[in-house]
Amino acid sequence: TVTAPQPHDAAQNSLDLSHHWMPFTANRAFKAAPRIITEAHGIWYRNDRGDQLIDGLSGLFCTPAGHGRREITEAVTAQLGRLDYAPPFQFGTPGGFAVASALARILPDGIDRVFFAGSGSEAVETALKIAMLYHRRRGEGQRQRVIGREKAYHGVNLAGWSVGGMVRNREMFGLGMAGVAHMRHTHIPENRFVLGEGEHGADLADDLERAVGLYGADTIAACIVEPISGSIGVLVPPQGYLARLREICDRHGILLIFDEVITGFGRTGKAFAAQSFGVTPDIITMAKAITNGTVPMAAVAASRMVYDTIVDDNPSGIEFFHGYTWSAHPVACAAALASLKIFQDEALFDRAAALSPHFLERLGRLRAHGIVEDIRGYGMLGAADLAAGATMGARGFQALTALYDAGAIVRVTNDTLIFAPPFVMEPADLDHLFDTVEKVLAGF
Ligand code: PLP
Repeated sequence: TVTAPQPHDAAQNSLDLSHHWMPFTANRAFKAAPRIITEAHGIWYRNDRGDQLIDGLSGLFCTPAGHGRREITEAVTAQLGRLDYAPPFQFGTPGGFAVASALARILPDGIDRVFFAGSGSEAVETALKIAMLYHRRRGEGQRQRVIGREKAYHGVNLAGWSVGGMVRNREMFGLGMAGVAHMRHTHIPENRFVLGEGEHGADLADDLERAVGLYGADTIAACIVEPISGSIGVLVPPQGYLARLREICDRHGILLIFDEVITGFGRTGKAFAAQSFGVTPDIITMAKAITNGTVPMAAVAASRMVYDTIVDDNPSGIEFFHGYTWSAHPVACAAALASLKIFQDEALFDRAAALSPHFLERLGRLRAHGIVEDIRGYGMLGAADLAAGATMGARGFQALTALYDAGAIVRVTNDTLIFAPPFVMEPADLDHLFDTVEKVLAGF
């Protein structure tokens, strides 16, 4: 049940908006016309005006089981009463081991050695450092180059934005990390309006082979990709593309890293996109839905080969000089265990797979609106590109605010609408979401 909303003016008058420097937000525009969310239950938000808004984005790709899950609240509360914190360096708590084991049960076979971090960005830095160290331990410390991809998002920390390829996230911050090269993206016109994997573009994976030709395989540590590029607007890999990357990596001793911060935990209809696409990387990063969005947490799962090379073959002492104050935080672990239990008890990954056809059908219908220039989707993740207005992003922002006023929350990147509904939606909820989107687009 939803408690009585605060009256609009009271909420805004009591909040001083000047001090909070908001992330990835147009601060001045926001503070002139704020969008303040005050409650979340199930698939619904409530804002400070008392409006109900449907959650078309699972929080920020992180609450597939819906908001306000009692089981998680109880687990977190109990954990805070029992053990709020203990140092994670040279000490352990039960939660970290239990979550790592639970993840091992749903990860691809053999990718089951789990290192914890506090955010997706930290998971990416961790994965890249693991890759560097792996090669060093094998006597190939000169393998330091990392191959990323245009239009990729790997978080905001130095290595992550350097290997990432979203222009606006890079252009203001200088040169970035040394030793980074990018493959071309896979957003090609031949696959326009294709839902699922496009027929064209597997050969774009050969950009990795070209990088090998240019730099030499013995300088390349890893290739990192999102199996589906999420934040730029859901670029689904062309048929055979990921398998080709795997082959090239195998041929040249390069580690393949899948950044599954968005695609992990059922978004593609299986636990991980690696399983949906039938391609197993050496390292998987994950975050977001690991605690159903409730407590910050991230993880890096490495293959046994990688772990054994770094840990077991190491003479003595600390094998990996890396870790975070919040690595395997006991409260985050409690939230993760409760979330993973919900995913399992409610078979939520299967449910995502079952809901996907209806989701993709409703998404595809947006094509009828002349303003929609392309649509992509897979599983419970989809995007629609709107024709740009006067400046890039203006139309997208207009859509974001119009949808908010109409009672729906989605993500907007530039002029692209991104949808990632919770898996606990009913088909009728998806209809409500897309009816709202269609109404808004009809007014454009
Ligand atoms: N990697 C991918 C693929 C992401 O989508 C994100 C966030 O959206 C990140 C990394 C960064 O995660 P965080 O915002 O938790 O640092």
